[in-house]
Amino acid sequence: MNRIDKSTWYVDTEYLGHDNLIATAGLETSEGPLLVDPGPTTSLDTLSSKLESAGYDWSDVAGLLLTHIHLDHAGSTGTIIQHHAPDARVFVHERGAPHMKRPGRLLKSARRIYGDDMDRLWGDFEPVPEENVTVLEGGEKLDIGGRAIEVSYTPGHAQHHVSYHDTASGTAFIGDVGGMRVHGSDYIVPVMPPPDVDLPAWATSLEKVLAWNPDRIFLTHFGPSEDVERHIRVVAERIDAFAETVRLTLDSTEQQDDAELAARFAEKENDRMRSHTDEAYWEAYERFGQPRDSWNGLARYWRKHAMSGNG
Ligand SMILES: [Zn+2]
Repeated sequence: MNRIDKSTWYVDTEYLGHDNLIATAGLETSEGPLLVDPGPTTSLDTLSSKLESAGYDWSDVAGLLLTHIHLDHAGSTGTIIQHHAPDARVFVHERGAPHMKRPGRLLKSARRIYGDDMDRLWGDFEPVPEENVTVLEGGEKLDIGGRAIEVSYTPGHAQHHVSYHDTASGTAFIGDVGGMRVHGSDYIVPVMPPPDVDLPAWATSLEKVLAWNPDRIFLTHFGPSEDVERHIRVVAERIDAFAETVRLTLDSTEQQDDAELAARFAEKENDRMRSHTDEAYWEAYERFGQPRDSWNGLARYWRKHAMSGNG
């Protein structure tokens, strides 16, 4: 367990045995801890044992604050509620809430992407009982056990993404809005998978994070960063650069197939990442900062955009 301050901490969930990939943050309140993004079910045993060795019991947990419902952030939520913390509240954006209660469609599209690897990567995704869910729109000021938490709607990476500003620690928990930065490295990559990538919305979301004027941001991939303004500026630049590169490849090469274009983009970006980071971080970046997914997310965005007559 890593301390941010005396009542704020985070855990490396050691996803599939890897450090620095998925972090779950904890905020202590008078009603018990709140966890931000509990991660997938495949890392739940590690999260449980780390909570236990820090003196917590699942039954103490007051709530789960979900930034968004992607499997790497929210996959274990239903399992936690159904088997470990039946009274905990689950906070989720209104566009994500229906999928947490009835995950059938979400899982079907995930299975299309991950195929036979789905269970090994993510494990179960159990439904969250209706009565545990608190639906958010953005703009709320939550008071949970004396802890004041501001909620902002921050789409761009996902259309159901929210961020949380914990005023006590001065920390903005921004999920995947700020991309990925492996702890101990200062290399930042945006993570832009299909199907929700929205460039103007993303830019607005980054402005909203800055408007909180937080002392630090906290990324699910991975951990805290106090260099807030630089981080946000760099991720905005990288988002623009990714977007422009993909737009140009779509404009200029009509015979090549998507897989080939995506592979070439990924190869270039991976080379660049390798020249900026130590070997210890490559694997982490390649798993979660996978440029191939970002190529697909951006290609989908540009094609949709062109079809609506604006591109
Ligand atoms: Zn993520």
